[in-house]
This record gives sequence, C-alpha cells and structure tokens, in this order.
Amino acid sequence: MSNFVPVNEPLLDGNEKKYLLECIETGWISSEGPFVKEFEEKFAARMGRKHGIAVSNGTVAIDAAVDALGIGPGDEVIMPTFTIISCINQIVRCGAKPVLVDSDPLTWNMDVSQIEAKITSRTKAIMIVHIFGLPVDVDPVLEIAERHGLKVIEDAAEMHGQTYKGKPCGSFGDISTFSFYPNKHVTTGEGGMIVTDDDELAETCRSLRNLCFQPQKRFVHERLGWNMRMTNMQAALGLAQLERLDDFVLRKREMGLRYTGMLREIQGVQLPLPSTDYADNIYWVYGLMLDESMGLDAESAMKRLAEKGVGTRPFFYPMHQQPVLRKMGLFEGEQYPVAEKMAKYGFYIPSGMALTYEQMSAVVERVKGVLH
Ligand SMILES: *Cc1c(COP(=O)(O)O)cnc(C)c1O
Repeated sequence: MSNFVPVNEPLLDGNEKKYLLECIETGWISSEGPFVKEFEEKFAARMGRKHGIAVSNGTVAIDAAVDALGIGPGDEVIMPTFTIISCINQIVRCGAKPVLVDSDPLTWNMDVSQIEAKITSRTKAIMIVHIFGLPVDVDPVLEIAERHGLKVIEDAAEMHGQTYKGKPCGSFGDISTFSFYPNKHVTTGEGGMIVTDDDELAETCRSLRNLCFQPQKRFVHERLGWNMRMTNMQAALGLAQLERLDDFVLRKREMGLRYTGMLREIQGVQLPLPSTDYADNIYWVYGLMLDESMGLDAESAMKRLAEKGVGTRPFFYPMHQQPVLRKMGLFEGEQYPVAEKMAKYGFYIPSGMALTYEQMSAVVERVKGVLH
C-alpha cells in the first residue's frame, strides 16, 4: 500500500551519521571503542545514576540485573503479569519463582496494592515494569521493599526521559534497565543499559557482560557470564540520540495529546490516561483498549486496520497465559482479569518518532472507519 503508515519509524537525523562515520574512520567498531564509555557515563548521569553498563539489548540487561542481585533457585520475585517475556526469562531459567500481580485498568501498570499479599519468606525482589508511557506508582513499592528487606529491579525500557514525582525513571530501586530497540525513545538499533548507584552491583554486571573474564587470569572463570557487550557503533548512535532526548519526549507528548484530541469522541474505546498524580504520560506507544460491548477484539480490529494501511501491534500477552510457562507447570489456575482483558482488547497504533501529523490524521480517519 502506497500510503501505509508503519507502526514505528525512528528519527536518525541528528549526529548519528557523523558519530558512526567516526567509528569507521578510526577503526573503532568493537566494544573497546571510546563511545561506549562516553555513552554509559552520559546516559547514567541523565538517569540520575552513578554507573551505566551498556549491553547488547534490553532483555539481557534484565538477565544480568537478576543474576547480579543473586536471585537463584527457590527465590521468589514479584512482578506484573502484563509485560514482555524479557522480564521473566532469567527468573525462570535460574530456578526462581515468578509471582505475579494484575494490572490497574486505567494506568495499565502493575496494581501495587496487590504486592504485599504476595510476599512470603522466600520473596527476594520486586520487579517494577513501567508500561507504555506512565510510570508505576513507585513510592509504595519502595516502601514495601524497605519494610520487608526486598531488592527492587526497575525495567525502564519504555521510559527514557520520563519522571516519577520529578525524579527520572531509571533511578529507582537497586538496579534499573533500559532497551535501545528502534521503537524506544533512544535507539542504538539493538542495545540496552543497566544503571545503578551500587559500586558492587555495577562491577558484577560489567563482569557478567563480558563472560566473567578475570583481569589477572583471563581464561579462568569463577562465575558464568554472557557476552552481552555493546559495540562502539551502537554507542555512537546512542550518544547522538541521547543529545535529543528532551526533544523526543516533547515530541512524543505532543503526538499523544494530538491523538487523544482526535480520538476522544469515538465511542467504545479507552485511550491512554494523559496523566496521574505523579507523572504526565510520555506515550511510548499510543494504546487503544476496545470496549467488550463493541463486539470486536484487538485481533479483528488490527486485521481490518492492516487492510486499510495502518500498522499496529497487540498489547503484551500476560505471563500467566504463556504456553511456554504453562507447560513448565507455572501459574496453574491463576487468573488476572485486568491483564487478560488488556491482552484481548488492547493494541497500539503508529507511535514512532518519525510519524508526521499527516500520517496521524490518516491513522485516525482509518481507525474511525474500522470502529463505526
Ligand atoms: C523493549 C522492552 C524490553 C526488551 O528490550 P530488547 O532490547 O528488545 O531486548 C524489555 N522490557 C520492556 C518493558 C520493553 O518494552
């Protein structure tokens, strides 16, 4: 289709080309290049953290964070069921037990009022995952964690530049992670970052990222790590993107409010909440939740939109319904009705950084055509 509107297109028209060219001209293309350290330092500073450890994607950033916190067999980690599989991988693989909570129907984030009842003597950590554009209500989580002596991991993959009560997302808990996939507010193609204030955790993550090679006895290993190093070329892109983060956030907020203005009158659709007491929506993606009464689920709506030339993506599929996890005997008989409904009726429309106003208007017209 000639006027197809893709679900995401990144904006790469700042210093991206210049810095990338520098990698090629200097020959620094591996993870040893100077942009990696510069990107780590500048990104960590922007997120209000002491250390940044650049890695190859947001999923492995979480893997390393979970491992670095010493989470292992028998430990329990409380987390939202409504999230991406990346959050649960390492918890399950290491023999720990993921313990789920449902979502809040308005913010789409984990319902923090459900956390405390899930704590047992085996609980080791709580994982916060900010979803789509609004942060989790962090303070109650930190307070519960403090009172019960639990670690906190913050997955801020969708929240570059967002704040909670004025403090940067990515600055909460023991350790936070980011993704730089092309639909994120800062992209490196593929990439991720771990940030923390804890010197020892930072050191452990650096080691885990690099196969736990030892400085003195390089090929003698005391621990199993991964190769999750970021290249200088990725960091070059990241630096150029980071320079524009404030602009990107403004742009996303403006796009979100514009969509809301145009979609507000449509019946039977729940739009993203523009703000809460603690944050204004950053609209990482612009989600729509269809009313059950419409007699249309996300899958059918997305199919019809594709026919009209609009790219969409479904909402996340809850962890407790994942076939791979159910086959392992996890979450037997568990129900999380809000997340289940979100998965069935939720999807998002084109929300990328390069989206134009003309494209947005075309998307809205076609959405209206499908929902009436
Ligand atoms: C994108 C994303 C990830 C995974 O990042 P990748 O870089 O794609 O591995 C993890 N968590 C959340 C919440 C995400 O949105």
